[in-house]
Amino acid sequence: MIYLDSAATTLLKPPSVAKAVEKAIRTCASPGRGVHPPAMRAADCAYACREEATRLFGLDAPERVTFTMNATHGLNIAVRSLVQPGMRVVISGYEHNAVVRPLVNVGARLDVCVGERFNPDSFLSELKEKIPGAGAVVCTHVSNVFGFRLPVEEVGALCRENGVPLVIDAAQSAGHVPVDFSALGAEFVAVPGHKGLMGPQGTGLLLCRNSAQPLLYGGTGNMSDSTAMPEDLPERLEAGTQNVCGIAGLREGIRFVRETGVSRIAGREAELTQRLHRGLKLIPDLNVISVPEKHRTGVISVIPLSMSGEDLAAALGEAGVAVRAGLHCAPLAHKTAGTVSTGTVRYSVCAFNTPEEMEKAVRITEKILKNRYKT
Ligand code: PMP
Repeated sequence: MIYLDSAATTLLKPPSVAKAVEKAIRTCASPGRGVHPPAMRAADCAYACREEATRLFGLDAPERVTFTMNATHGLNIAVRSLVQPGMRVVISGYEHNAVVRPLVNVGARLDVCVGERFNPDSFLSELKEKIPGAGAVVCTHVSNVFGFRLPVEEVGALCRENGVPLVIDAAQSAGHVPVDFSALGAEFVAVPGHKGLMGPQGTGLLLCRNSAQPLLYGGTGNMSDSTAMPEDLPERLEAGTQNVCGIAGLREGIRFVRETGVSRIAGREAELTQRLHRGLKLIPDLNVISVPEKHRTGVISVIPLSMSGEDLAAALGEAGVAVRAGLHCAPLAHKTAGTVSTGTVRYSVCAFNTPEEMEKAVRITEKILKNRYKT
């Protein structure tokens, strides 16, 4: 199978990830729960994962790295920590439901910043108008539908100038393009473990500048005589037994990304995407939604003109190419790009894909559409 759905979850991962999960399930208990060797091994494993993330994302202390179930979990904590009912919150027009739904649920007033489609300068000039007086800004780093990379460093600078807290959704950027926590100056950066960091499903990280409001309350293994959650990170956000096996795998995923180098991964993915994009553009009856190359990452969305996206994705699946059709949990991004009525078929790469797979995926797509046209 040619797996081109890495924007959902990476499937092709370094073998060290699965090995670490298997070892942890045999040897680790729970961090902070006892001082016997299995508990200490679990604590060491969790700490080592925090340290890997601290290095990868340029934080100044491992305590600022908290474990979550996924990016959605981290975004919910960030929103609950910063946003009160009625508060005006500026978001980009490319946000995922993992941002929109928690904000709506807490009663925020959404102020959507769009600008010209896939144009960072136009986005920033609109943002400049909207930021003064806002309660918070939430911005995705990379659109999960179109691969468009937003200018988050400049967004961070504007937020700092205006004293407005910033939350970055790094679901599609962590492990794919550099994410520098210190340079962004964000209050929170939400990161999935199971996408570009190549960890197991059910893992994620929330990078925190200051403290946060817990989403879950419960045991943390310390300060047990208090009925309140500890004030200090990471325990404040980590009630209950943590996903130690997942964390062990995530540690190896992050280590792989760090040792390979994010810039090298980005370069490889850009080459693969360029090849895929060039091939898809040549197919008749296929509308390729093109993002300017310098703002593009490893995601391409297309709309077939002679069949539905769902039918194309199903036919590709039958022919051994895994892609995804629909709105990709991001109706706002489709509204912004003008694709909400059809949705798109999304091809998303990771560094383990090959140039040959790109050529083959293009040929199979072309064949499906040609056969369809004849009938
Ligand atoms: N934000 C974006 C931009 C995403 O692409 C995704 C995953 N599709 C999420 C948030 C949610 O990530 P998770 O599945 O890890 O909760």
